[in-house]
Amino acid sequence: MKAAEIREKFLNFFASKGHTIVPSSSLVPANDPTLLFTNSGMVQFKDVFTGKEKRPYTRATSSQRSVRAGGKHNDLENVGYTARHHTFFEMLGNFSFGDYFKHDAIKNAWELLTGVYQIPAEKLWVTVYQEDEEAYSIWKNEVGVPAERIIRIGDNKGARYASDNFWQMADTGPCGPCTEIFYDHGADVWGGPPGSPEEDGDRYIEIWNLVFMQFERTADGVLHPLPKPCVDTGMGLERIAAVLQHVHSNYEIDLFQKLIAAAQREVQAQGHAVEITNNSLRVIADHIRACAFLVVDGVIPGNEGRGYVLRRIVRRAIRHGYKLGCRKAFFNHLVPDLVAEMGDAYPELAKAAAQVQAILKSEEERFFETIENGMGILESALAGLKEGGQLDGDTAFKLHDTYGFPLDLTADVCRERGMTVDEAAFDAAMDQQKKQARAAGKFKMDADLSYSGVATEFKGYDELSVANAQVTAIYVDGT
Ligand code: ATP
Ligand code: MG
Ligand code: MG
Ligand code: MG
Repeated sequence: MKAAEIREKFLNFFASKGHTIVPSSSLVPANDPTLLFTNSGMVQFKDVFTGKEKRPYTRATSSQRSVRAGGKHNDLENVGYTARHHTFFEMLGNFSFGDYFKHDAIKNAWELLTGVYQIPAEKLWVTVYQEDEEAYSIWKNEVGVPAERIIRIGDNKGARYASDNFWQMADTGPCGPCTEIFYDHGADVWGGPPGSPEEDGDRYIEIWNLVFMQFERTADGVLHPLPKPCVDTGMGLERIAAVLQHVHSNYEIDLFQKLIAAAQREVQAQGHAVEITNNSLRVIADHIRACAFLVVDGVIPGNEGRGYVLRRIVRRAIRHGYKLGCRKAFFNHLVPDLVAEMGDAYPELAKAAAQVQAILKSEEERFFETIENGMGILESALAGLKEGGQLDGDTAFKLHDTYGFPLDLTADVCRERGMTVDEAAFDAAMDQQKKQARAAGKFKMDADLSYSGVATEFKGYDELSVANAQVTAIYVDGT
C-alpha cells in the first residue's frame, strides 16, 4: 500500500465514523508565538480544545504536515541516527472535541489497524499512562490485548528516546495522559519493548499516540481541566507506511526511496559514486522535505527564530552532500523530485515550486562559499583530538562566526567521529562577542547622541538589542 493510499484510507475511515476531513494547516502556527512550528495535528485545533473557539463539527480528521526541529519536540538530532525520525513528517489524526472519549478512540484505532490495514494483532503492543486504569481495562477486556503486551508507563526519563505517556504540545497548552501503540518489527532488529532498558532500539516502533486531552497547562505550570475531555491522536504516515510496506525503516518506504535516489543522482552528477543505502542520502532526503515545506509556508532562511532553524537544516543537508563529494549546489535540484512525490497531496507545494527552489538555491550557494574553508579548519582541529575527545569552544565559535557553521552542524560532524563540542565554551565565546558588539554599539550611539545633541533619539535598550542582533547576524553569515 503506497503512502498516498494509506493517507486516503485513514481519512476515509474516520469520515465514515462522522469525522469532518480538515485540510492540513501551515507549518507556521497561526497567532501562536509559544510554538516554533506546527509539531502535530492538534495544533490547529488548540483553541477548540480549550473552548475558546467553536467549530461546526465535534469530530475531525486530518493529515497534518509537521516539523520537529527546534522547540519542545525536536528531532533534528535524531535524523540520520534512528529509523523512525524525520524533521518533517505527516501526522494522521482524529480528534474529538468533547464528543467521544477513551472507548471510541481506542476501539477505532484498533479497528483501523487490524481491520482496514490488516496488521496482525500479535505484532502490536500498547502502553498506557501508569494510573490510567480505564484505558488499561479497555485494552485488556474490551479489545482483548493480552496483559503481557500492555505496559504501564509513568515518567520514564531514563532512556534517550524514553516513552512518556503524558503528552503536551509545548510548555503551555492542551495536554493529557495518553496510550500508545507500538509495532514489533521482529527479532532481526535490536531493541526492547517500551519501558525496558533496550527501548532505545528500533525493534518496537511507536506508531500511534492517542492522547486524552484533559488539561490546559498555563505559563505558571498549573493544569486546568478543559471544559470537556477531548481526544487527539497522531500517527506518523511514514511509520505506518513502513509497517504496511514490510520494511523496517521509514526511509525505505516508497516516498523516500524516490527522494533518496534523486539525492544519489545529484551526488553522482558531480562525479562521486555513492551507495543508495548511504546514511547521508537519507538525511538529505529528509531535509529537502522540511526545507521546501517551510519555504512554502513563508519561512525564509535567516539568523533568528524560524528562519534560523530553516538555515540550520539547509546547512546540515549541504554538509552531508559535501561529505559525499559535492562541491557545488545540489540540494535545490531536489525540489522538482519532491514535487513529483508530494505535489498531488500538497498543491501549494507544486504551485510555489519555482520560488522554493530559487530561495534554497541562493541559500545553498552562499554556504558553498564558506563550507570548504570551514571544513578544513574543523578537520584539522579534529585531527589533533583522540577518539572521544572534545572540540574546543573557540574553534566551534570561529566556525560559527566566520564560516556560518551552526553549532549543531559542527556537533553533528563531531558526533560522527565519536567526539563532542565544548558547548559551554562556545556559549562563553558567543557572550563575549555580544558584549563587545554591545559596547561598540553603545560607543557609536554615544557618538551619535553627542553629534546630534538630541537625547530624545535614544529609544532604550530594545532598539539597542535589535541593532546587536543585526551585528551578530552579519557575523553568523560569515559575510
Ligand atoms: P518517538 O517516541 O518515537 O520520538 P513521539 O512519542 O515523540 O515519538 P508523538 O509526539 O506521540 O511522538 O507523535 C505522534 C506520532 O507521530 C508518533 O506516534 C509517530 O508515529 C509520529 N512521529 C512523532 N515524531 C516523529 C518524527 N520525528 N518523524 C516521524 N514520525 C514521527
Ligand atoms: Mg519524539
Ligand atoms: Mg514516544
Ligand atoms: Mg508518543
